Amino acid sequence: MSTQAGQVFSREALEQVLKRRFFYAPSFEIYGGVSGFYDFGPPGCALQSNLIDVWRKHFILEEDMLEVDCTCLTPYEVLKTSGHVDKFADWMCKDLKTGEIFRADHLVEEVLEARLKGDKAARGIKEEVKEEDEDKKKRKKKVKEIKNVKLDDEVVAEYENILAQIDNYDGPALGELIAKYDITNPTTGGKLEPPVEFNLMFETAIGPSGNLKGYLRPETAQGQFLNFGKLLDYNNEKMPFASASIGRSFRNEIAPRSGLLRVREFIQAEIEHFVDPENKKHPRFVEVKDVKLNFLPSHVQESGHTETVEKSIGDAVAEGMVDNETLGYFIARIALYLASIGIDPKRTRFRQHMANEMAHYASDCWDAELHTSYGWIEAIGCADRSAYDLSVHAARTNEKLVVREPLPEPKTVERWECEIQKKKFGPKFRKDAGTVEKWLTSRTECELEDLAQELKSSGKITADVPEVGQVEIDSDLVSIDKVTRTEHIREYTPNVIEPSFGIGRILYSLFEHSFYTRENDADRGVLSLPPLVAPTKVLVVPLSNAAELKPITQKVSAYIRKQKLPFKVDDSSASIGKRYARNDELGTPFGITIDFDSVKDDSVTLRDRDTTKQVRGTFEDVVDAIKAMTYDGVSWDDATKNLKVFEGQTGE
Ligand code: AMP
Repeated sequence: MSTQAGQVFSREALEQVLKRRFFYAPSFEIYGGVSGFYDFGPPGCALQSNLIDVWRKHFILEEDMLEVDCTCLTPYEVLKTSGHVDKFADWMCKDLKTGEIFRADHLVEEVLEARLKGDKAARGIKEEVKEEDEDKKKRKKKVKEIKNVKLDDEVVAEYENILAQIDNYDGPALGELIAKYDITNPTTGGKLEPPVEFNLMFETAIGPSGNLKGYLRPETAQGQFLNFGKLLDYNNEKMPFASASIGRSFRNEIAPRSGLLRVREFIQAEIEHFVDPENKKHPRFVEVKDVKLNFLPSHVQESGHTETVEKSIGDAVAEGMVDNETLGYFIARIALYLASIGIDPKRTRFRQHMANEMAHYASDCWDAELHTSYGWIEAIGCADRSAYDLSVHAARTNEKLVVREPLPEPKTVERWECEIQKKKFGPKFRKDAGTVEKWLTSRTECELEDLAQELKSSGKITADVPEVGQVEIDSDLVSIDKVTRTEHIREYTPNVIEPSFGIGRILYSLFEHSFYTRENDADRGVLSLPPLVAPTKVLVVPLSNAAELKPITQKVSAYIRKQKLPFKVDDSSASIGKRYARNDELGTPFGITIDFDSVKDDSVTLRDRDTTKQVRGTFEDVVDAIKAMTYDGVSWDDATKNLKVFEGQTGE
């Protein structure tokens, strides 16, 4: 794996830089830490907020999305309705003897990969040097699996086939693989229990009584669905539209690992694009149709392969590989966002979910995966969730989460309708009358047809009404009939296209994609972050700490501050080279050197981090060039064409 031409990526070197410069570190470290929690230091905070800032501009501003900020604590009922209480789980298996717990899919993956590696070694096939995380290295020391044993060719093919579609197996299927391939606790060889489901939500009680059960939200999406009615109203009933939310989500991962990639608390940025189910065309699709992407379709994985196919999003939608234009539009916009913050497009692919992996209600789903030393990592999910979320919340709350649009021409339709005898209904149900009535009037056509049959055959309806319980509604309280009406309004539940970003995974992948060490100096790491997202844009370095240089340093600093450009002054006594090296590790793209000539004529030297090229000009012109390169995407050559090439002392 290389970041600079021919250079082998060293995860250890990157991790040292991230630690040394306090991008992030384990939380509660002086207490020994808890897996899956990290705190961000100053450069990590700045970088993260820059990624979010670009995200906000690229999606929310560009698409006129409606941003909401909803609570992290969510009551039980909401997540019961959304399906998270019952289904938001991973499969785990336990070693009965040691009590050790494994995430079933990761265990199968790790063991089969290890056996394939052992097979390659036994066959004398050399593998590309691959970095492994510390956990894995430690485990491997004791791992019984890592023996250089040659496998039968059919077994190798079977393993490769399984690994290509590892996300397609549910718990029982993983259990079968564990039994069939005799997978045991890799460190002890101990037998494992069959996989069982483990719900990933953190549970808590809201309020002092302890009666109101709640959870820390596992995603930001639900808050957006619950506010759909208000957002539609805010948007003057205009469709389609998108909401967006950036905030923390919490998942009690079975085995957090791989640093920021699998944590228990992380920032998500999610979009819910509400669209007419009968028209998923996107008015701006034409702007992205030629964007070329690497796709890994489901049928390729299901046949045991992982080769990607490169094509334009326009072709992918036209061929029906990607379900519709709106989904395709967001896939392309995701790719453009990633490239704009410095993610390597060659190490980005879009993987389609396989049949078992996709939620039953979803019509298509693609993950943006980024390649890192940990393999391909899902960083963004992009799914067409159909009308599922709004429908289930509407059914549970009896709130109509629908769009009502005037029809171009009136339409005659036959429809089931219920008529309530309010005079009798109120006294019968008293305080519950409103809830029972709302329940009746929010039934679907099919449900009303069934209820009409029930009413006809037994003279009453027996129903379970949420918050009320079981009720009996006699035929003298309600009638349900098929009526013919002329409609002027079309009513429908929108479908939802949901791009869901994990900021931490993008951030970590960006570190890997931008890290390299200076030629002939493995100790000098550089984070080649694009100026737009770099924590600090410019480092001001006076040549020495002579008193003479202080006033001009202050003058230049005051000017940069006024331009609102994030900068730092390093007037320490370290050599210029050392000071720049420190800032290369922080990803600072530009340097301004102040010397004794600066005192005379306000001129300074501008240095580029990646090329170490230098030019000279007045500090105002240099700052203008930095601003143009940082915020307007102007190239070095264009931005510095009026500045003089500087061949003087570099101190590097
Ligand atoms: P999901 O709702 O599972 O599709 O997750 C949406 C996005 O959240 C993923 O694409 C990841 O980027 C991110 N994500 C999910 N789980 C974690 C985790 N445990 N740690 C860090 N990021 C996560």
